[in-house]
Amino acid sequence: MMVGVLGLQGDFEAHCKMLERAGEEVCVVKKPQELTKLKSLVIPGGESTTLIRLMELCGFWNALHQFYQEGKAIFGTCAGMILLAQKVKNPTQKSLGLIDVTVERNSYGRQRESFETTGTFFEADGRSVEIPLVFIRAPRIQQLGSKVKPLGFWNDESIIARQDRILVASFHPELTDDLTVHQYFLKMAGDQ
Ligand code: GLN
Repeated sequence: MMVGVLGLQGDFEAHCKMLERAGEEVCVVKKPQELTKLKSLVIPGGESTTLIRLMELCGFWNALHQFYQEGKAIFGTCAGMILLAQKVKNPTQKSLGLIDVTVERNSYGRQRESFETTGTFFEADGRSVEIPLVFIRAPRIQQLGSKVKPLGFWNDESIIARQDRILVASFHPELTDDLTVHQYFLKMAGDQ
């Protein structure tokens, strides 16, 4: 089975390249029917309001709930995280609610629309590694529910988190050369 990347809008091609580099067979998903051949899905960054509109138009809303209920894993970066969150602020908007976090859109300040830094990521075995972080008009994870595990930090804030088979990141690992986060997701998706 393949790994899918939702290809309605945003930087899906960068995710495809990373997953291919990690040795996966990748499929760009534009229709809900294409979900059936996948073992897991990445929802890329982009503009969450546009993504919501396109997902509604194409019938992805129920299909993604079903996909998750079937035991598949989903990874959302930036706008993808906004879509997966339980609660969205600035402003409030519709979301899939598959991970118990509250996120605030565009939360790192106007002067810092886009910036690069490094942060700490905890591998599945608990080992911590330094990873490059690219933030682009990024959402902040404001609250994590009790079942949500923070997996990485920048400035003492969680910037990547997991609940069961949902992984979310406020940054863009696909815009770096570092495969750490994608490899973590692939392992997590395969473990289930
Ligand atoms: N600012 C965008 C939003 O709120 C997310 C930005 C991104 O995905 N790079 O939807």
